[in-house]
Amino acid sequence: MVELVALPALGDNYIWLLQDGAQALAVDPGEAAPALHALRARSLVLTSILVTHHHADHTGGVAQLRAATGAQVFGPATEPVPQPFTGVAGGSTVRALGLSLQVIGVPGHTAGHVAYFCPDAGGSPLLFCGDTLFSGGCGRLFEGTPAQMLASLDRLAALPDNTQVCCAHEYTLANLRFARAVEPDNPTLLAYEQHCAALRAQGLPTLPARLETERAINPFLRTRQPAVAQAVRAHSGCPDDEVAVFAALRQWKNEFR
Ligand code: ZN
Ligand code: FE
Repeated sequence: MVELVALPALGDNYIWLLQDGAQALAVDPGEAAPALHALRARSLVLTSILVTHHHADHTGGVAQLRAATGAQVFGPATEPVPQPFTGVAGGSTVRALGLSLQVIGVPGHTAGHVAYFCPDAGGSPLLFCGDTLFSGGCGRLFEGTPAQMLASLDRLAALPDNTQVCCAHEYTLANLRFARAVEPDNPTLLAYEQHCAALRAQGLPTLPARLETERAINPFLRTRQPAVAQAVRAHSGCPDDEVAVFAALRQWKNEFR
């Protein structure tokens, strides 16, 4: 029986720790200390470190964590992940903790960004998506195009309803405030925002999120919904084209205060 833990790190990152018996894997350790502390507290051996993309808030703890544990590091083959690491790309499979994790290429936030999908973790499927999909939002387009990011999000949105979406940041409340500006008449969104606000008031993570919920509330997965497309076009005057609408939505979010 695997157990999933979100370890708060840096300002608003999560390091995801997946534990099976006495072994564990860690995803995107932006710093080593929270992971080392959790491993010690739970008497776990770290066997694997999974990296979704090269940004420092996801890789800053890799070298120290590897040195302390001997864990094998996996990361996108085309990105500058701390060496030595095993390069992966869309279509690769990573074996860890006796589980198979499918690598999905999700360019957009960075050019080589990958996500790790575990269809059979004992309970519901798990998705480690780094800074591609956030609850209620998506990553900024630092290295990729809107068309690439839209295709990447489509790939993730096609995963099973009960997939647990393990995002790398606690951005949910800010994202939902923007989502409400885009879709003020979405009752599921309004209820979910209240639910997440109550979790945060208790100091609890809003993650993992359920993929079925994201499809119902996340405007970046809903750009083909008439209400979303109309709101974006009314805001930005962009053409009636799915990539243009997605690009304008991302731009709207960038400027939203
Ligand atoms: Zn990032
Ligand atoms: Fe990040």
